[in-house]
Amino acid sequence: RALQGMEPAEVIEVIKASGLLGRGGAAFPTGLKWEYTAGAPGDARYVVCNGDESEPGTFKDRVLMEGDPFAVLEGMLLAGYAVGARRGYLYVRGEYPRAQRILSQAIERARKAGYLGPKILGSDFEFDIELRSGAGAYICGEETALFESIEGKRGFPRLKPPFPTTHGLFGQPTVINNVETLVAAAWIVQHGPEAYRSVGTDESPGSKLFCLSGDVKLPGVYEVPFGTKLSELVDLAGGPQGQIQAVLLGGAAGAFAGPDEMDLPMSFEGLREAGLPLGSGVVTVINTERDMRTFLVSLAHFFAHESCGKCFPCQLGTQRQLEIVSAWANGSASRGDLAALQDVGYAMTQASFCGLGMTAGTAILSAFEKWPDLWG
Ligand code: SF4
Repeated sequence: RALQGMEPAEVIEVIKASGLLGRGGAAFPTGLKWEYTAGAPGDARYVVCNGDESEPGTFKDRVLMEGDPFAVLEGMLLAGYAVGARRGYLYVRGEYPRAQRILSQAIERARKAGYLGPKILGSDFEFDIELRSGAGAYICGEETALFESIEGKRGFPRLKPPFPTTHGLFGQPTVINNVETLVAAAWIVQHGPEAYRSVGTDESPGSKLFCLSGDVKLPGVYEVPFGTKLSELVDLAGGPQGQIQAVLLGGAAGAFAGPDEMDLPMSFEGLREAGLPLGSGVVTVINTERDMRTFLVSLAHFFAHESCGKCFPCQLGTQRQLEIVSAWANGSASRGDLAALQDVGYAMTQASFCGLGMTAGTAILSAFEKWPDLWG
């Protein structure tokens, strides 16, 4: 449809009109990202699909990549056409070998059928896709660290600005989108922005894939219109196993909702108002039989392990956070230690170089706020 009747700028207009927001966690308007990239000067332009899904509790992109690989390629092709790119990179998490196999076969088949390569569908549009595998680092899901990884360097984040739309992969204007975003873009071009806006809310149009895990009867990926209540989402997953103690929203980098917040609307603005992140759509239900201390230690362990070490607030902060949370969990932390734990959390949030460090203390700080008694 795009190649046979739409100029690249029209594709961008359609995506802008749909109000599509990025699904990787930042919720940046996709149409604007494409527009900025299309208008940026450069020798070449690139499209990167971020399939390095590593946030604990997130598995929606795996389902898309394994279940509908051509939709992912289609989204990348559309982005390429819209911004004038001739090359795309599909960066898939290293622990997803099945997704990689399926996507690699899909790329091969698309190439053979003339949907990738020169003169696609008889037009002047040329585009090809290269599949790249991650190697197990959470930080490579951060867009600029992902570029470094594709360029063959250590996965360290870059300072922003400049942003990828002007200085991305190989220093050139680059569109980088999450898998779910690109699949939604393909749907929007096919069905039109009005159809997309017919569900969801004004500020968060369309539907969203949520990953339900933890103490629910039927864990899995559920697609619902934005604005659906948290309780409805948990009901879709068969309801809670036992009694709900808390729900972690947004993954390890997220924050806790209490059992009294089950009426929250699951939209970007709805959760923002409640001071909670929607992130990439993680909903982890924790029942009253779980020991919250053990849970928080596991989050702290995750960040201490995944910090890339580039900047001190996060490199040292995540280690110190793990030490204190572990000491607290086994009953040997002092009041001073707990005050230091919060200081470490604030310091990481405010002084870290990239999003990993900025959110490494969020869940623990949220536990302080939600359950002051827990810290005794
Ligand atoms: Fe690396 Fe953490 Fe600093 Fe990000 S915040 S650059 S992950 S050390």
